[in-house]
Amino acid sequence: MDKTQQVQSMTETLSKFIAYFGKVLPDDIRQKLEELRKIETTPMAALIYDTMFKNQELAAKLNRPSCQDTGVIQFFARVGTRFPLIDDLSEIFRNSVLDATKHAPLRHNSVETFDEYNTGLNVGYRTPSIDWEIVPKSDKLDVDIYMAGGGCTLPGRAMVLMPGAGYEGVADFVLDVMTSYGPNACPPLLVGVGVATSVETAAILSKRALMRPLGSHNPNEKAALMERELTKAIDAIGLGPQGLKGERSVMGVHIENAARHPSTIGVAVNTGCWSHRRGNIAFGPDLTYTIVSHKEAVL
Ligand code: SF4
Repeated sequence: MDKTQQVQSMTETLSKFIAYFGKVLPDDIRQKLEELRKIETTPMAALIYDTMFKNQELAAKLNRPSCQDTGVIQFFARVGTRFPLIDDLSEIFRNSVLDATKHAPLRHNSVETFDEYNTGLNVGYRTPSIDWEIVPKSDKLDVDIYMAGGGCTLPGRAMVLMPGAGYEGVADFVLDVMTSYGPNACPPLLVGVGVATSVETAAILSKRALMRPLGSHNPNEKAALMERELTKAIDAIGLGPQGLKGERSVMGVHIENAARHPSTIGVAVNTGCWSHRRGNIAFGPDLTYTIVSHKEAVL
């Protein structure tokens, strides 16, 4: 394949993958929902989980989106400096969204700010967003693609705490967000928490935390302990599926952190909903790919 064909082939692969994971949830999310269903004892909670499973079954069978809100598409790319198509990736990502919008199809979710019109294409000024991590001396690409729905994006909050607020202040902040806005985001939730210096450094980490597979833990023991404690605390609110009460509120709590200024604690929260449409795909230098998040996917 020449370069033009390679670009086209990768664009098509990503477009098909976006269409696929808009209909089929990642393996870890499906497994967790089944686990949580077994814990719920009230008829209402059990019924809601069963309806979610029926929804998933029909989405696959009828080739329909898992949720009507197919979100704004966001890319989180870890790209090697020697990946052969590194110069073309922004265009490849953008064109894959354009293509998926027509062929998946995806709901039109891109409104130009200030001019206030829907582009009808799911792309616009600085959209889709791309978060880049450059990997030196690598010739590979590993990318998470996420459908940021409106309901699960709305609880997002960030602020900078006084240092004296300590990690208790971080926990208070997260729990305030969960008790105020958690039910709006179609629980059970995946809660991403970023801890850093400022609002923007904490915010991007809180979103990256949502890309981590369920069952993963922060490598810092104290942060991992906080993940477990926050899980228990948010579960104790008893949001249940769709916020209509139940034994559990969350699929998990993930914390990502960075060293901070001594005078500040930046903290941010992002939430993912039960229909957490996140796809992880890895490309080698010859552009062969592995779909990591959905083991049975065939594009
Ligand atoms: S929060 Fe998630 S499941 Fe609920 S409407 Fe939004 S995208 Fe759909």
